[in-house]
Amino acid sequence: MLRLTEVKLPLDHPPEALREAALERLGLPPGDLLDLQVFRRGYDARRRSAIHLVYTLDVAVRDEPAALARHAAHPHVSAAPDTAYRLVARAPEGAARRPVVIGAGPCGLLAALVLAQMGFRPIILERGKVVRERTKDTWGLWRRGELDPESNVQFGEGGAGTFSDGKLWSGIGDNANRIRKVLEEFVAAGAPEEILYVSKPHIGTFRLVTMVEHMRRTIEALGGEYRFGTRVTDLEIATAPDGTRRMRGLHLDGGGFLEADHVVLAVGHSSRDTFATLLERGVHLDAKPFSVGFRIEHPQGMIDRCRFGDFAGNSTLGAADYKLAHHCKGPGLAGRTVYSFCMCPGGTVVAATSEPGRVVTNGMSQYSRAERNANAAIVVTVTPADYPGGVLAGIDFQRRLEEGAFHAGGGGYRAPAQTVGDFLAGRPSATLGEVVPSYKPGVTPTDLAPLLPDYAVAAIREALPAFDRQLRGYARPDAVLTGVETRTSSPIRVTRGGDGHSLNTRGLFPAGEGAGYAGGILSAGVDGIKTAEAVARSLLDGEAAR
Ligand code: FAD
Repeated sequence: MLRLTEVKLPLDHPPEALREAALERLGLPPGDLLDLQVFRRGYDARRRSAIHLVYTLDVAVRDEPAALARHAAHPHVSAAPDTAYRLVARAPEGAARRPVVIGAGPCGLLAALVLAQMGFRPIILERGKVVRERTKDTWGLWRRGELDPESNVQFGEGGAGTFSDGKLWSGIGDNANRIRKVLEEFVAAGAPEEILYVSKPHIGTFRLVTMVEHMRRTIEALGGEYRFGTRVTDLEIATAPDGTRRMRGLHLDGGGFLEADHVVLAVGHSSRDTFATLLERGVHLDAKPFSVGFRIEHPQGMIDRCRFGDFAGNSTLGAADYKLAHHCKGPGLAGRTVYSFCMCPGGTVVAATSEPGRVVTNGMSQYSRAERNANAAIVVTVTPADYPGGVLAGIDFQRRLEEGAFHAGGGGYRAPAQTVGDFLAGRPSATLGEVVPSYKPGVTPTDLAPLLPDYAVAAIREALPAFDRQLRGYARPDAVLTGVETRTSSPIRVTRGGDGHSLNTRGLFPAGEGAGYAGGILSAGVDGIKTAEAVARSLLDGEAAR
């Protein structure tokens, strides 16, 4: 196959325009084009009056070497690279030792799937419930203000991203085709085919639920085993005379013990009790920066017009997204960055706490992205210097903010909210305007400023007018802020070495977002695969027997 990049076509081009563009690029007659596949489709909206689609095409042509030689100097014609993912190992027949995966989020699921495909028959321990049961519990919080601390937006089959926009892009590098592997497994599990080629794919929450079930059936068919409602409460670690620490097993909620010398720790960023256990057991942890702030909502139509001008509403473009960043300059703010995060076009703001008496915001949408409002987190980076006091101090800091939001919301998991106009003017909101907040079980208009540290409030006040200069109307007085957004990424890193083992505990493989190695569904899945490879290598090396 040949790869043609930067093939530009108008937004409303007919399907045959792709073939014509490929033939023109290669200077071939129609009969010489044997096959054409879209590898990537993005758009260029830098000029709103002339938005066009930008394709990467893989084509099969008659006499490929000759065509390649003729275009050797062309910057946008090359041989198509091999994008296949290859398993790195195969379990020996009848292998007795089974790796254990803690957590059935995207990281744990991909780790378990790849281990199962290699023949290692993993055991998956998940504190929450199967995804259908979990969905009911999550809606229980949104509809009735009832939280189940073990079955919610953060915990349960599918992990934190199940009730989400299902955005699937990431800035991570990939020289082993793991990104492609994640996307192909998602398609095999029922995700729309287009996620393989659109430049910013998304799935939406509805499909994610059925995909997660499909992946479970695949893992089980390959010999994997799930245990739901099974929280890991403690780690059994043996220390050799030379000081080497090795995983021996896991204590489970309810008193059970599972022998395990290869454990993937894919617990996500909200498993605060597990982080405390890791610290107690002397597992190497480091504090790391994360971000805090609010969710902001605007009418989606306004964002579409800002981004796409007259093309707003075009079905190929879909609902517009945005990405904003502001490096603060005000007194005492040097080095702080405010940025938009987890933007959900045409979506809703969701209650995302896993702990009683705390309020946390996040965002989700359906595949159609047809809801009235656009929402995004507007957050400020915070570092361990902002919350001194030990490796878990970031969690205490998050909890303080989340408790403040619960009380300011007036209880029942209502969230505090304020209009942008009032927030910028420094006065509490008594009522809201035209933008109707989507957070359930509801919001309480108030003053958000006391809920974040002063520097974060000052930074967001500086950033909103700057964002308005990039997206006109962004700081409109009736845009709504809802708080607080604290679970942007993990406040700790469970640091691992180059071979995937924890820095000081052999057989423990920290992975995914909770361990500080991923920042979204796709990167968590990729890290899961990478970790499965490390586990397989270690098992084949006979590490368990040492
Ligand atoms: P998680 O998904 O958090 O999974 C961890 C799992 O471990 C959980 O199921 C948990 O129950 C289980 N667990 C924890 N502790 C234990 C224990 N002790 N014993 C047993 N099981 C345990 N990212 C995107 O890329 N795109 C989006 O559109 C997007 N939207 C989001 C919307 C929302 C509402 C939320 C909350 C997150 C969103 N994210 C999104 C972030 C994304 O969900 C996470 O980055 C991703 O899920 C991290 O994957 P993970 O497998 O590392 O951890």
